[in-house]
Amino acid sequence: MPIDARYDPENVFARILRGEIPSDRVYEDADFVAFRDIQPAAPVHIVLVPRGEPPTSPAALREADAGWVGRMVLVASRIAAEQRLAGRGYRLVVNCGDDAGQTVGHLHLHILGGRPLGPVA
Ligand code: 5GP
Repeated sequence: MPIDARYDPENVFARILRGEIPSDRVYEDADFVAFRDIQPAAPVHIVLVPRGEPPTSPAALREADAGWVGRMVLVASRIAAEQRLAGRGYRLVVNCGDDAGQTVGHLHLHILGGRPLGPVA
């Protein structure tokens, strides 16, 4: 997904948030929904998604987004603990644009764990 892509309200995460596509939800609150990735890259692979129409990628974030972005990391760490990943560790990933392999233009955070994950890239 190009870094400068415009938000598409038909993207797969928007459709999951609207309930048009089923998902295996593990967490939700007023601001975020988390569900299991359909193609898990680790024994635990959860995607944490802000509700609404967030920026498409980290490249589009503004100073005013700092509060909810910080909370997103906090929520991710809580979900990781709930998934019993806190003892051995886990990885939080935010992909940005084509070189990172970002495919969905709705900013999101991956929570990965359950095995040694190896080098970042
Ligand atoms: P990205 O590569 O954009 O950082 O991450 C998008 C993620 O969404 C990928 O890991 C992909 O497997 C996941 N994904 C794509 N379509 C669906 C879907 O319909 N349901 C779920 N649960 N995950 C999806």
